[in-house]
Amino acid sequence: MKSIQKIAVYTSGGDAPGMNAAIRAVVRTGLYKGKQMVGIVQGYQGMIDKNFLDMDARSVCNIIQHGGTMLKTARCQEFRTPEGREKAYKNLVEKGIDALVAIGGDGTFTGAELLSKEFGIPVIGIPGTIDNDLHGTDFTIGYDTANNTVIEAIDKIRDTAASHDRIFFVEVMGRDSGSIALWAGIAGGAEAVLLPEKDTAIEDLITKLEQGYDSNKTSSIVIIAEGDKNGGAYNVAKRVKEKLQFYDIKVTILGHLQRGGNPSSFDRVLASRLGYGAVNALLNGETRKMVGLKNNKVQLTDLSEAINHSTFKLEEDLLEMANVLTI
Ligand code: ATP
Repeated sequence: MKSIQKIAVYTSGGDAPGMNAAIRAVVRTGLYKGKQMVGIVQGYQGMIDKNFLDMDARSVCNIIQHGGTMLKTARCQEFRTPEGREKAYKNLVEKGIDALVAIGGDGTFTGAELLSKEFGIPVIGIPGTIDNDLHGTDFTIGYDTANNTVIEAIDKIRDTAASHDRIFFVEVMGRDSGSIALWAGIAGGAEAVLLPEKDTAIEDLITKLEQGYDSNKTSSIVIIAEGDKNGGAYNVAKRVKEKLQFYDIKVTILGHLQRGGNPSSFDRVLASRLGYGAVNALLNGETRKMVGLKNNKVQLTDLSEAINHSTFKLEEDLLEMANVLTI
């Protein structure tokens, strides 16, 4: 394999708090090891448009505390085509880039793996997504911050729910992943949690809410992941209202505020460890791997394994516990 002199880093897919801390760690680790560092603006779109930034240690000053991504992110259809990826690769060669660090979620890793397989360029992925849906890491960058944002909102909703004896249906992000919903449900003491990975019969939810009412609960919070198969918080609320007409029912959709905000200290440290680990992995000759944190150790997993959706990532034991703790 050709020795690596110039490494490019990019963020792609949905933004996540902590991506900046990861960019900073990648750039500074590469510079420390004597490599030239490049930032690609707007992910794969930037590769195709030659949107490259030469980075020095000062380019990443004062960003560790900010949400979003200084390199911007984009969803790029053209990169999904072989022609688009060829154009991107030619631009990387023209810029003298020998290796890539991709920060993003499963889509980003799918694109990175294809590019690496087709053209042989080494690539290491860093899990940056609030969804926490990748295998090979206990946590993805942004998940902890998003959970803290959600829980702050739920605490506020709980105040008003308790004052008015209401049921609140709170919809959180997670099209395919119920990770945020499950943690928010546990940390917020929610009466029920509805997840994309599990079919929940509305009748069972109604029974649970009735049991709560019978045991003198005056207010309840139900957390619903946006990808739950019952069709989102408004739909669930409508169906529950048909059966429990005596309850005052409200819906809150938390939406994109879950993506923003200053990263938590956990996400900043995680991002720093994974950024540092990604560059070291590349320089040790690794490729097509994701760097993740397992049992508090930085470790590598094949990209193809990291994005494997056939295995269930959600912690079943937590779901079981959540049900017990809400009697
Ligand atoms: P998040 O989990 O936050 O949504 P993500 O990385 O999964 O992040 P996507 O929009 O799925 O976000 O993917 C980001 C980009 O990766 C896409 O816009 C596209 O350019 C590229 N990509 C995704 N899937 C593929 C694919 N099958 N082939 C080539 N490129 C892809």
